[in-house]
Amino acid sequence: MTTRSEPFRAAVLGATGTVGQRFVTLLEGHPWFELTALAASERSAGKAYRDAVTWIQTRPIDETVAAMPVHTIDELKDREFDIVFSALDASVARDIEPEFARRCLVVTNASAHRMDEDVPLLVPEVNPDHLALLPPAREGADLPNGIVANPNCSTIGLVLALKPLASAFGFERVSVVTLQAVSGAGLPGISSYQILDNVIPWISSEEEKLEIETGKILGRVSGGTIEPAELAVSAQCNRVPVVDGHTLCVSVDLKGEPTLEDVKEVWGSFRAAPQELGLPSAPAQPIVYLGDDTPPQARVHRDLGQGMTTSIGRLRECPILGYRFVALSHNTLRGAAGGALLAAELAVARCGRHGSE
Ligand code: NAP
Repeated sequence: MTTRSEPFRAAVLGATGTVGQRFVTLLEGHPWFELTALAASERSAGKAYRDAVTWIQTRPIDETVAAMPVHTIDELKDREFDIVFSALDASVARDIEPEFARRCLVVTNASAHRMDEDVPLLVPEVNPDHLALLPPAREGADLPNGIVANPNCSTIGLVLALKPLASAFGFERVSVVTLQAVSGAGLPGISSYQILDNVIPWISSEEEKLEIETGKILGRVSGGTIEPAELAVSAQCNRVPVVDGHTLCVSVDLKGEPTLEDVKEVWGSFRAAPQELGLPSAPAQPIVYLGDDTPPQARVHRDLGQGMTTSIGRLRECPILGYRFVALSHNTLRGAAGGALLAAELAVARCGRHGSE
């Protein structure tokens, strides 16, 4: 898989937040990456991780990590890392991530650099070839330096569902209505008084991200940059009282009039680079079609494939665009820390000096 004998030294920036906590749990016992440092804001710095974090995961914090000190970002600037996982707010990430990226590989969940020309906006099953935007690893380094960005959490579920359809049939117009979980708003998040018994039809900048990022991810590498796919995406985003898991109601104008069975077959047989390479965080099935009636449901299906599988159901004809379906994607696993970890594994396998390709 990777022939390097030592694990890659990893830091997590924003380690106390919703996504940071997922990184901490997913890095526990990871075969390639060793968590060597944690950073958060001045509010948390100087404390042991267990005292700084409001732990919201269902499994306890690993004892070794619980005792690790939380640093300010500045304190980590002179330390050596092979890879930095960022779970910072975009406003903080904007200046900090390029500083780390001059020295090592940064894999980020923040939106600050997603649309930068030299930044792959990566969903490992969808556009692994976009890693070509990274420079080759420098002399003496095992990984390239630069930024790899994880897309918006709803966009990830959308492009996973669309990629096999783009390859098999093609389309030009997509309409998506999202029902997004409260964990997507970070900690402390939206107040219970605002979200219980309620649906809020607005999430800051979310619709714009879905509409812009989809074209870049489904685009192709040309002359060292990404030529975005030519398609119109219309997004309407809603916050709903679900803890984890974003649901997407999608309509799409598939070309060639495939039957509904053709579409299901294309989803069911979809496998890509992470599965072929056997990457540690790759689900056996990136997409699963669960049935025509009641699935997918957030509480029931979000953890399929350790939260890395996109579940789909309710495929039927659409009187406006031709085809419609419902997809579900776990926002803090596939949509954030799990997706970023898979992206890092792909970068090791494809761009690292000790990778398997
Ligand atoms: P969050 O719960 O608000 O966590 C933010 C983290 O950033 C905390 O660790 C916080 O530390 C730290 N931080 C804040 N200001 C800082 C500063 N000035 N210097 C250093 N650290 C600072 O947010 P989140 O939901 O985990 O999201 C993190 C990032 O991932 C965001 O860019 C978000 O848009 C993106 N994202 C989130 C999701 C999701 O489902 N939640 C999905 C995809 C992408 P303190 O605890 O010390 O304040």
